[in-house]
Amino acid sequence: MSNGDIIVLGCGNSTGVPAIGNYWGKCDPANPKNARTRSSIFIKYKDTSIVIDTGPDFRTQINREDINHLDGAFYTHAHSDHVNGIDELRLIKYRNEKMVPFFSDLETLEDLRHRFPYLFNGWQSNLYPPVLEPHVMDEDAFGNTQQFMDIEFIPFVQDHGTVDSVGYRFGDFAYSVDMVDLDDKAIETLKGVKTWLVDAAGYNYTENKVHAHLQKIYDLNAQIGAQEVYLTSLTLAMDYKTLCEELEEGYKPAYDGLKLSFTA
Ligand SMILES: [Zn+2]
Repeated sequence: MSNGDIIVLGCGNSTGVPAIGNYWGKCDPANPKNARTRSSIFIKYKDTSIVIDTGPDFRTQINREDINHLDGAFYTHAHSDHVNGIDELRLIKYRNEKMVPFFSDLETLEDLRHRFPYLFNGWQSNLYPPVLEPHVMDEDAFGNTQQFMDIEFIPFVQDHGTVDSVGYRFGDFAYSVDMVDLDDKAIETLKGVKTWLVDAAGYNYTENKVHAHLQKIYDLNAQIGAQEVYLTSLTLAMDYKTLCEELEEGYKPAYDGLKLSFTA
């Protein structure tokens, strides 16, 4: 058993906070914890470092945290706020002097191959060589322990309304971004985690079709039993201090730069 490190690179929903035009919504601009880039996390275990999702703020996030090495990129789904920084992986390939391992489900791979064909296939042969080495997670992988270099992880399928997304468990930590609900298989995979970082963009709106609301998270965690739950994918409606006052004990809003750890 040893410890791994997690950095919340971003905990904002698709707009970020402030949204373009310095629009802060209900969030207090005076509180630095309300400044949120798009959702992503960094994981380091022993000598292996990965990122989960590469949204539009990817380069800014990696530079802000002074991260200078990545071994691979894992994806939750193909929505633009989770992938649109993917071109930055060219520099990771250049510095590592090898293709960047890319992990996703098949639907995400097919979507990104269509949108960013040059990253997978190259373009004009040697002028723009390929960057990404795809690894597809299928039914056999979901719910079962997988290995990437030093890192063991268990991917699981999440219901994100219009598409499935992939959640990830690392030892006693799990990341469930962009989901509206979880089935019994996902809940089984999550049982025993100590820390759960989970999408709460639905907030108090129980009719949200793609993001979980707070009561849903309380209900799910009644089955999962995580001791500390951090909320992510936070929206313009979700002020940090207001959330701290509203949430039940053991539940906290995440913030950009939050550091957590896990045991594996
Ligand atoms: Zn999404």
